[in-house]
Amino acid sequence: MVNRDKYEAVIGLEIHAQLATNSKLFCGDATSFGAAPNTHVSPITLGHPGTLPKTNKIAVEYAIKMGLACNSKIATDNYFARKNYFYPDLPKGYQISQHTTPICIGGEVKIKSSTGEKTIQLNRIHLEEDAGKSIHDITPTDTLIDLNRAGTPLIEMVTEPCLHSAEDAFLYVSEVRKLVRWLGVCDGNMEEGSLRCDANISVRLKGETTLGTKVEVKNLNSIRNIKKAIEFEIDRLIELKETGGNIIQQTRSFDANNDTTFSIRDKEDANDYRYFPDPDLAPFHLTESYIAEIKSSIPALPAVLKNTWKSQFGLSEYDIDQLCEQKEEADFFMALTTQTKHYKAAANWILGPIREYLNEQQISYLDLQKSIPQLVELLELVASNQLNFSVASGKIFKAIMDSGGSPISYAQENNLLQTNSSDEINNWITQVLSSNPEKVAAYKKGKKGLIGLFVGEVKKLSKGKADPKVTTELLEAALLK
Ligand code: ADP
Ligand code: MG
Repeated sequence: MVNRDKYEAVIGLEIHAQLATNSKLFCGDATSFGAAPNTHVSPITLGHPGTLPKTNKIAVEYAIKMGLACNSKIATDNYFARKNYFYPDLPKGYQISQHTTPICIGGEVKIKSSTGEKTIQLNRIHLEEDAGKSIHDITPTDTLIDLNRAGTPLIEMVTEPCLHSAEDAFLYVSEVRKLVRWLGVCDGNMEEGSLRCDANISVRLKGETTLGTKVEVKNLNSIRNIKKAIEFEIDRLIELKETGGNIIQQTRSFDANNDTTFSIRDKEDANDYRYFPDPDLAPFHLTESYIAEIKSSIPALPAVLKNTWKSQFGLSEYDIDQLCEQKEEADFFMALTTQTKHYKAAANWILGPIREYLNEQQISYLDLQKSIPQLVELLELVASNQLNFSVASGKIFKAIMDSGGSPISYAQENNLLQTNSSDEINNWITQVLSSNPEKVAAYKKGKKGLIGLFVGEVKKLSKGKADPKVTTELLEAALLK
């Protein structure tokens, strides 16, 4: 039996994120996904002789944004280098990259693991262009090439070898995806390849300080697959160590059909890419004021919102984490909080009925902007006990979202407002008590907990109209008789 506890896994992740710019990194070709093959391919993308690339300023800005959000140091003097190699989907014969001189140096991403908060150290974030796509599965004998993607701006984000479990890798990539979406620098769509991950994995005996020989699993395109590939590799490497097998530095690929990995190539140690500064692109200098300007354009990050929402709004950690999953949702919550002080209620409305409604209707928070005043009115009506929450969320909310009407008028017209009239409530109470004689007897013998059941019955009978506080008081009085 293999003793896995003797070993420690070491993992470093490289994430490629396609920047959400309209045009490519060095020319005006569109970057949109799903266009007919080879339609976004100007002579610059194709690397024709005599063409001159120009750097896309927005791509540089996005890379800086990501670096600032991760507390990286921003390099003020930058240039692009050519990384020379031959590949059919690389028409120029080189990739323009910053591999050796990244625009963002160091930095960190915090994750919330089951054992507490952890800081994942970054080595760098650099800018580079994407390659085209080789397509092997359209015809049985040929490989087809689509160069639309060639030249799309990417940031490559590289961690130090500081992760130790598949779970933490999973959390890290989730966090990075959330962050790029939050900043609006990448759509984070892993299925469309906007975010791709290579996982480098090695194992060593616990206590050892030198790194073991690593394998690299390339192009993982879902967060679940990242986790599965790493789990499989850790197991495989430990097994190899235990059985005296030889671990060789390899590039591997994940097979999603059976959750295993297979070798694509053994990695020669020194790939000679003959890096040199691209002579067609001017080096660029970033001034401190330009970096400061970009910094000021970054929206408040979840970590900051979390503190405010906890201290000022008294929200629970759980609610805050939920609301910060998506920037649109967090923004919508903030918009509500500028108009009502019922913060917890606003959070509950969003996490419950509003989410459900958006899902059902397949619409976004942007579509709900115009309904904010109605929503605020509705949640205030519940807070002031004029409406019962389930009536408000179940019967009124959708109706007024669809019709655009006023919550109070809708409630009045449909006789849904809660009543605190003793006469009306006592009527319901009499009916409930007379149809539950055994429960009444049990209550009178001391089973005081039954009060909740009676309140519930009155609520049901009144279709949510009986004010629960008044109901409880009147019930207690009635049951004394
Ligand atoms: P390469 O040149 O092969 O791409 P790098 O040194 O640039 O290697 O590192 C790539 C990634 O692999 C980084 O995330 C790094 O942290 C990680 N890494 C490097 N060595 C190891 C190792 N022995 N075990 C696990 N991860 C490693
Ligand atoms: Mg690598």
